Amino acid sequence: MRAQAAKAIPGLIALALVVATGVYLGRPRTIYGNPTGEIPLEMPAELGGYQAERILFCSNDQCSRAYRESQLAATTNAAPASLDAIPSASLDASPPQLAIPAATCPSCGSPLSAISIGEAKLLPDNTPIFRREYIREGQPAVQATIVFSGIERRSIHRPQVCLVSQGNRITNEHPYDVDLGDGRTLRIRVLDIQQVYGGENGEKVIVPATYAYWLFNPERETDSHLKRFLYMAIDNSLRNYRPRWGYVSISFERTSLDPEAWKRQLDEFVPLIYPVLTDVREKLDAQRNITTVIHHSSSEINVYKGETGDVTANPRVSGQPSPDAPAPSAPATRPEANPTQPANPPSAPADQP
Ligand SMILES: [Zn+2]
Repeated sequence: MRAQAAKAIPGLIALALVVATGVYLGRPRTIYGNPTGEIPLEMPAELGGYQAERILFCSNDQCSRAYRESQLAATTNAAPASLDAIPSASLDASPPQLAIPAATCPSCGSPLSAISIGEAKLLPDNTPIFRREYIREGQPAVQATIVFSGIERRSIHRPQVCLVSQGNRITNEHPYDVDLGDGRTLRIRVLDIQQVYGGENGEKVIVPATYAYWLFNPERETDSHLKRFLYMAIDNSLRNYRPRWGYVSISFERTSLDPEAWKRQLDEFVPLIYPVLTDVREKLDAQRNITTVIHHSSSEINVYKGETGDVTANPRVSGQPSPDAPAPSAPATRPEANPTQPANPPSAPADQP
């Protein structure tokens, strides 16, 4: 009898550990950093002579065109000349241009959204996204996007994975140090990518582009996805500190005429936008003592309480990108000559581990 009881002891201990672990993981937890709060950021309307444009995306993945807002305003204000760039095949299939309100795609009539199809599919709900295209005469247009993580604990998407899943090819990747002009240097990661579009006649159009990114939270900046992951794991488990992370990406078309032009463009543009990011980091840091209590799963309380930016709302299917995710995609919209090309910016890592 006693021997039998002794045999049962390891099993009982194991059971007790399982129960204790469950109680431990299921306990309410208070975290700091306000990952559901307002993001005090507004993308500047002007940066060093660049004028900002809002970009809207067609929600139909067979079309997936991108438009500058001013282009849509021109459409509704009866200016057919601005529609020259739309491929004739699309024009044939669409209703009269002038009757279409700005909220629908002039090409196919589907609703337009500030969130691209790729972002809607890849990112959790309530992911705030801030994006503008910056345009200046004589320069390739620069698309600047900042995606913020919330409290969500789903899998992390490396930017590289997102880019490829949206139909881009990465041909080179390297770190690059940008002189911020005040004695400091910011290390960013630069990818040479090839955006693959479907052309008007079904042919493949390949557009080379530069895609640069880095990551920040109120305390840290890094160009390394792995470092960000480690910082998050340590802050979350040892400090209960779970602030928002921001993922900045800057992209523009690369010219084959001048192989060094991308450096000049980054050297100029990054220091222009950097103070905007410093400002939002300071303001987010001021929210660090705001607490959130997690009772069960953090995804249940993954909301965005702020009003700035655009926010993803589409339900994700099983947390994975759809196999028929939009193939044509471009971090930078095409230049003025053909601004109706698809332009789905790659999505960002927006999750907590
Ligand atoms: Zn469309």
